[in-house]
Amino acid sequence: VARAEEGIRWHRGSCRLCGVGCRVELGVKNGQPVGLRGVPQARTNFGYVCMKGMHFWKCMRHADRLTRPLYREKKTGTFREISWDKALDIAASKFAEAVTAHGNDSVAYYGSGQALTEETYLFQKVMRGGLQTNNVEGNPRLCMASAVGGYLTSFGADEPIGGYDDLEKAYCFFIIGSNTAEAHPVLFRRIMRRKLDNPEVKVINADPRLSQTSRIADKHLQFKPGTDLALLNAMAYVIIEEKLYDQSFFSTYATFRKGKEKKEVSFDEYKKFVADYPPEKAARIMGGKVTADDIREVARWFATSKGTVSLWTMGINQRKRGVWANNLIHNLHILTGQLLKPGADSLSLTGQPNACGGVREGGGLCHILPGHRLVKKEKLRNQVEEAWGIPKGRIPPKPGYHTMAMFSAVNAGKIKAIWINCTSPAQSLPNCNLYNKGLAREDVFIVCSDIFPTRTTEYANLILPTAFHFEKTGVYGCTERRSQLTRKAIDPPGDAKPEVWIVREWAKKLASKLNDPVIAQCVKPFDGLEEGYELPRAIWNEYTQKLTKGRDNDLQGATYEVLEQMYDGVQWPAPTRAHALKGGTVKKFVRGMDPMADSEATSDLPYQFYGPAHKDRKLWVWLRPQADPEEMPDAEYPFYLSTGRIIDHWHTMSMTGRVPELLRANPYAYVEINPNDAKKLGIKPGDMVEVRSRRGVNVLPAKVYEGPIEGMVFVYWHDQHPERMINKVTKDAIDPGSKEPEFKICAVKVKRVSGP
Ligand code: SF4
Repeated sequence: VARAEEGIRWHRGSCRLCGVGCRVELGVKNGQPVGLRGVPQARTNFGYVCMKGMHFWKCMRHADRLTRPLYREKKTGTFREISWDKALDIAASKFAEAVTAHGNDSVAYYGSGQALTEETYLFQKVMRGGLQTNNVEGNPRLCMASAVGGYLTSFGADEPIGGYDDLEKAYCFFIIGSNTAEAHPVLFRRIMRRKLDNPEVKVINADPRLSQTSRIADKHLQFKPGTDLALLNAMAYVIIEEKLYDQSFFSTYATFRKGKEKKEVSFDEYKKFVADYPPEKAARIMGGKVTADDIREVARWFATSKGTVSLWTMGINQRKRGVWANNLIHNLHILTGQLLKPGADSLSLTGQPNACGGVREGGGLCHILPGHRLVKKEKLRNQVEEAWGIPKGRIPPKPGYHTMAMFSAVNAGKIKAIWINCTSPAQSLPNCNLYNKGLAREDVFIVCSDIFPTRTTEYANLILPTAFHFEKTGVYGCTERRSQLTRKAIDPPGDAKPEVWIVREWAKKLASKLNDPVIAQCVKPFDGLEEGYELPRAIWNEYTQKLTKGRDNDLQGATYEVLEQMYDGVQWPAPTRAHALKGGTVKKFVRGMDPMADSEATSDLPYQFYGPAHKDRKLWVWLRPQADPEEMPDAEYPFYLSTGRIIDHWHTMSMTGRVPELLRANPYAYVEINPNDAKKLGIKPGDMVEVRSRRGVNVLPAKVYEGPIEGMVFVYWHDQHPERMINKVTKDAIDPGSKEPEFKICAVKVKRVSGP
């Protein structure tokens, strides 16, 4: 794992700054990080890294690192350093007091797709099995819950069927609602390479904003925000009208469904539904920049290519009808047979390194237990209780609060103690002005465990300093069902500790304060284990060996010992050691295999069929209509606001904002405005501009640029400056299925306030 070179030892691990999961090596000299480089043998990135990945190590020893536990009695008070023993004692007392006085659901854990799988798993085990609450949530709710809902409702199982392997085999890329060039740069490089190498390859980009991704597109469909469900149905219209579908594929593998009752309908009924979306009508809905001919052309490319891969992310997921939009993308793949074969996949991109691994798979959301088990199913709860050796019925049957409900409950004073780990909801929640009032309540005790101060630590009573990446050992997933191990390479600064140690020690104190041996039982298997390696390994073993067995994310073969041998980890399912040593499963459903095969491995081949979990073992094509966003522009608030990402920064800039090269490249957020709109409003480049919604206001410099379509402005969301935190402005409407907020669209007014 480590190689000597000019006094530098290179330690293999994963990059933690997005969901691509690039395999990297951290250079360490004299116990300090000195560089980072890609691993050429890794199939995730073939040695490439983007500028975020290349530079992130520079914040590891930043002077702002949290290095001692900090406590203040009142939120108006001043923090003082305390010992770990005292800190965990206070955290245990406050949680115990809340449970005793207000019940088990008065406490909550809010985690992160940046936490290691072992961390998420242990937190949720103590919360559910110990404190008997399913108030376990995480920030992946804010970015990929609609993708989960889409996969579950269309394919009957979460996470993509294929992966990056399909990129080099595809002939058509349909990129919708994703600025892949900036948000997933290393994957974008693979797409560019594929296009340069093969002139047949087409790239379609569907997005209201002209982005770096649009610039390589053969066709950029630039439409009014929120009209893409019409586009997707119109593409299906063309596919049916021109008989571009693969009837033998969908009649073998799919059924058609509609409504809340999931009623099965005929292909003829689906055809009738889609007949309402002729391209001419869809083009009118989508606004003047897209023509009916454009829609026809991209539908033909999609359907007739030798392999089509769709890629999307927040533009589709962060929507009031995000699940429906996901369904409509999957529909196109099922109708045309662009699925279950090399070079074809419906591949949702994930923003954080471990949203898929720890949170989606390890039980990090309020309605799911480890191994993709639903909280509401008694049999599945009992399986988990048995694995943990705790009494039957200990895990409550009611799912906990989803993210927006959790922070509404904080606002309402229903939650009395909340632990926020490795994330900053004070900046990342939509309409954050509203929810920050709850975080400021004196009767809500807040623990923040993190590496840097954030907007959220400003509301904390107790701040716990945690070890950073490469300062601890554990596993990250990534977009394509891949699990990769990163081993501790350097010591954390000061008294910072890995979260697994923190939770274990906290749980022991909780058990004694509540006089509850079951809480102690939750961490007993890990007692006394050394925190740098033995402890996370034991947690990983418990999770994979006891709770993924027979599940679709079976990881029994992917032990630490195996993961350490692999350049690029293992794709689940990987039920045996031999299977894991081959890299696991490249495609989880494969055409031609027995769809009635159960979720057990049928062979050690990397291509297998792990059939959809729908009762009829079929993929489902959904009838989903066009639906407007929750808040449309009107006379008072005439512009659409859309938010997004840029290449230099990530999340709340707590890390990238502390890397000089990245900060210099993009020091503050700005508002992008179309030149025609800027002219009408008398706005010139660099003018200070007010962007105001019904919820809040930002003042930002203007970037006059043809990127956003007329009638829309765009602001990147990373900036944590109080005047430029765009989530003060965004709307907290949620998708009724996935509960993911509609960050992507709201109505604002825009006016010039001063010159540059
Ligand atoms: Fe890291 Fe993502 Fe960049 Fe890869 S693409 S180096 S995972 S930030």
